[in-house]
Amino acid sequence: MTADLHSHSTRSDGTLEPAAVVELAAAAGLSALALTDHDTTAGWDEAAAACGRVGVAFVPGIELSTEIDERSVHILGYWPAADDPALVAECARLRDERADRAAKTVDKLAALGVAIELERVRAIAAGAPIGRPHVARAMVEAGAVPDLKAAFDRYLADGAAAYVPKHALAPATGVALIVAAGGAAVLAHPGLSTRDAPVTEALVDELAAVGLAGVEVDHPGHDDETAACWRQIAHTRGLLVTGGSDFHGAAKDVALGACTTAAATLAALEERREGSW
Ligand code: AMP
Ligand code: ZN
Ligand code: FE
Ligand code: FE
Repeated sequence: MTADLHSHSTRSDGTLEPAAVVELAAAAGLSALALTDHDTTAGWDEAAAACGRVGVAFVPGIELSTEIDERSVHILGYWPAADDPALVAECARLRDERADRAAKTVDKLAALGVAIELERVRAIAAGAPIGRPHVARAMVEAGAVPDLKAAFDRYLADGAAAYVPKHALAPATGVALIVAAGGAAVLAHPGLSTRDAPVTEALVDELAAVGLAGVEVDHPGHDDETAACWRQIAHTRGLLVTGGSDFHGAAKDVALGACTTAAATLAALEERREGSW
């Protein structure tokens, strides 16, 4: 009985529809799936209906963009109320911010000699909040880079030549927003941002003080040593240890269910929610 608590669909920057992600979850033998699209709950209804059809428990989730010093820090929120006014407002603000940022990124790329059309990026996003993977796909299509990884490594990764930060909430404010919306908050892939390493033990303490429930220790981007280090950090603070694949369909070379969370941990996570929705 295992759950994958981190996945993306076409409602953000994944390449599969929510129902198709659910079908993969069933095929992988998962007992539960969280859809955690970036800054939106738009895929929940479709994913929940599909989960009902295939007998997988649905965990409504979101991956909220926050930042420290213009570097991304992601907060996973589970079971927040989709109609919570503060959460809805922040998601709307982030969507606008992402639209502006896409335009700025296209300008920066042009100045670097990489010509892509903003309209094409918008078309690839197809109404979802625009993310860097959408820009990367337009770059591959235009023949500017051989693949998505090269687009990030050369241009789009945090701090790279065409990187444009999102103006987002501080991580502690993001955690508080999820908690106030009745959700459980988990720090996503803390070991992933090696370039400037904005995620520190001190940040974990700060987040724990505002109600952080867990740390996503098991993530495909963490090597064994990184995972062991964060497992220890979580354990010493009484935080739950979760796992998820961060599945993005064809946008990333990772299978759904590549990292998982034990059913007992998922139950404990649900118990840590404050309030109800
Ligand atoms: P954004 O929400 O626009 O900041 O983009 C975040 C998404 O871009 C993440 O969820 C990843 O899917 C992808 N991403 C971020 N950094 C990298 C990287 N260095 N290499 C590949 N994909 C990345
Ligand atoms: Zn993503
Ligand atoms: Fe993330
Ligand atoms: Fe993610």
